[in-house]
Amino acid sequence: MPGFELIGDEERKEVMDVMDTGVLMRYGFDRERRGVFKVREFEQAFAAYCGARHALGVTSGSAALKVSLAALDVGPGDEVIVPAFTFIATWEAVLEAGAIPVPADIDESLNLDPDDIEAKLTKHTRAVIPVHMCGAPARIDRILKSARKNGLLVLEDTAQAAGASFKGRKLGTFGEMGIFSFDYYKTITTGEGGMIVTNRKKRYDRADWYHDHGHDHNPKVSRALEGRTILGFNYRMNEFQGAMGLAQLRKLEYIIAEQKKNKAALKRILGEVKGVGFRLLHDPEGDSATFLAYNLPDRNAARRFQKEMAAAGIDAIYYKDNLWHYLPNWEHFLARSTANSKKYPFKDPGYKGKQTYGTNRIPNAEKILSRTLVMPIPIRMSPERLEQIAAGVKKAAKVL
Ligand SMILES: *Cc1c(COP(=O)(O)O)cnc(C)c1O
Repeated sequence: MPGFELIGDEERKEVMDVMDTGVLMRYGFDRERRGVFKVREFEQAFAAYCGARHALGVTSGSAALKVSLAALDVGPGDEVIVPAFTFIATWEAVLEAGAIPVPADIDESLNLDPDDIEAKLTKHTRAVIPVHMCGAPARIDRILKSARKNGLLVLEDTAQAAGASFKGRKLGTFGEMGIFSFDYYKTITTGEGGMIVTNRKKRYDRADWYHDHGHDHNPKVSRALEGRTILGFNYRMNEFQGAMGLAQLRKLEYIIAEQKKNKAALKRILGEVKGVGFRLLHDPEGDSATFLAYNLPDRNAARRFQKEMAAAGIDAIYYKDNLWHYLPNWEHFLARSTANSKKYPFKDPGYKGKQTYGTNRIPNAEKILSRTLVMPIPIRMSPERLEQIAAGVKKAAKVL
């Protein structure tokens, strides 16, 4: 699963280029940097890889979400539809923008159910954030269709699906904007880091301005503020991150190919267990194969199976109980405990809607996740490890 497995000489070389000039910042110092622009190069390479017109490096995937929402002018008074199964960052980014998240259900692919968008619409809905969870695409074609019909902006959270695609087109490039994360767990990593992609110059410009409030980005423009129309903040990526990203991006296709091999082998093993089924993949070709999600006949079977797998030293994540990836488990969110005692934006007097967050709003997520287990797929897996897993699975199967 994570690119950290492959950190080596290629990354070292890129990072040393930066050390040799001593210029750690992406902007300015044009003489001292002697032509080394790692973040800019990483952005260009990433945009080309995805088939997007523009890319902007930022400090994290969470920052990428926040900067994108600012670029889309989503904010106070707005509602944003977000799937109940995702890393909590997707939800927090909406709150950070001053908007209100609306819980959407998932389908058998574990991703946002396109049919639930219309069910969750109100007159305040501005945007929808489909999340391509665990490396595989949501039904992005149908999500786009519904969004278009209802005048919603689409921001793709592709944090967990770098390099994955839907019908030949890279995820992250379908919506108005798409974001990626390069934190230490992700498919390619820069330690911490994120990227925004978009085909729209207007969105890119606003993201660029918002992500850095005060440095010349374009030395050729001498006008004050370079034509900026909005205030911003600081979410700049630094040159070390850019250097890491360049080396890791070159490995991405290899990572996916290896994961696909390992995933196929693990799927064969689990497929032999009676009662085990697999996550629906809307486009198996486009899966980046970072995870293998499978399901058992019911909640008790899933729990029993997980316990046995854990005893055999095999990861089987039960996301229904996971503290950081499933809405019903976020006690602080459910208590509306944002980082200010006024509970903004929940209690924003300018917000005229009303949202609730009970499990009654996400019945399919409750059903599906209660019987789902998820196995992270390593990039490197020895034949011995595979045998160990096969033996562990065989033993675990006895409790079903
Ligand atoms: C990791 C992740 C993020 C946040 O990325 P960071 O770089 O850790 O801030 C956002 N959304 C999803 C789905 C993620 O998995």
